[in-house]
Amino acid sequence: MYIGNHLSSSKGFLNMGKEALKLGANTFAFFTRNPRGGAAKEIDAADAGALIELMEEHNFGKLVAHAPYTMNVCAAKENIRKFSVEMMQDDMERMEYLPGNYYNFHPGSHVGQGVEAAIPMIAEAINKSLKPEHHTTILLETMAGKGSEVGRSFEELKAILDLVTLKDKVGICFDTCHTWDAGYDNVNDFDGVLEEFDKVIGLDKLMAVHFNDSMNVCASHKDRHQKIGEGEIGLEALRKIATHPLLAGKPFILETPNDDAGYAREIAMIKSW
Ligand code: FE
Ligand code: FE
Ligand code: ZN
Repeated sequence: MYIGNHLSSSKGFLNMGKEALKLGANTFAFFTRNPRGGAAKEIDAADAGALIELMEEHNFGKLVAHAPYTMNVCAAKENIRKFSVEMMQDDMERMEYLPGNYYNFHPGSHVGQGVEAAIPMIAEAINKSLKPEHHTTILLETMAGKGSEVGRSFEELKAILDLVTLKDKVGICFDTCHTWDAGYDNVNDFDGVLEEFDKVIGLDKLMAVHFNDSMNVCASHKDRHQKIGEGEIGLEALRKIATHPLLAGKPFILETPNDDAGYAREIAMIKSW
């Protein structure tokens, strides 16, 4: 299986790969730029090439890059929306230095204008960013549904995917904490959740997993991650998810509140399953 966590991109690509190896990981996530800010530093092509080599040598799975939290491609304010789409377009060019990986983003918050207005905006942002010659797959993240978050149900995500032109270059990142908080019963009926996903979106679109426990109960719409086995989802359910045959071979990314030693422990535990 492919398991890893979020690493800081501030020390460069190759160093993230080395850091992942140290933690026992064989994939990782990183923010394409400061998660809270806009400016992105220049990409060092040689550094990206060195990471690609290391990943091949150590049989890494696909990386799951994460767009910054400030990106909201369905913002009600036009200037924020425009800035966000430009960020996504720039990120697509930057991802070409690491071809063949995933780029995950939060569909956004519709703040007042309603989800019906937001859905076409999100699809339009993807259509304006993704070109036929690109080598990246864009993933929409399943959201907890706090505030006016879009992507709180499989139906909302499907509605966005339906409006995307380059359909073979988009998919879904399934966050175990977010779907649980959104009301999907990952504890008592994970098979049923996957069945529902398959019925609404299609399991071929489930490409990556954000692997987290949750501090809150099902349908709480809170989005507070917890360490594996220490939250309301719990060890047994998470073990069943990590070892589920329908999820085999997908990159699993930990977003649990941990230090390096904690991540190394969680990665070792999950590998042992
Ligand atoms: Fe996320
Ligand atoms: Fe997540
Ligand atoms: Zn979250």
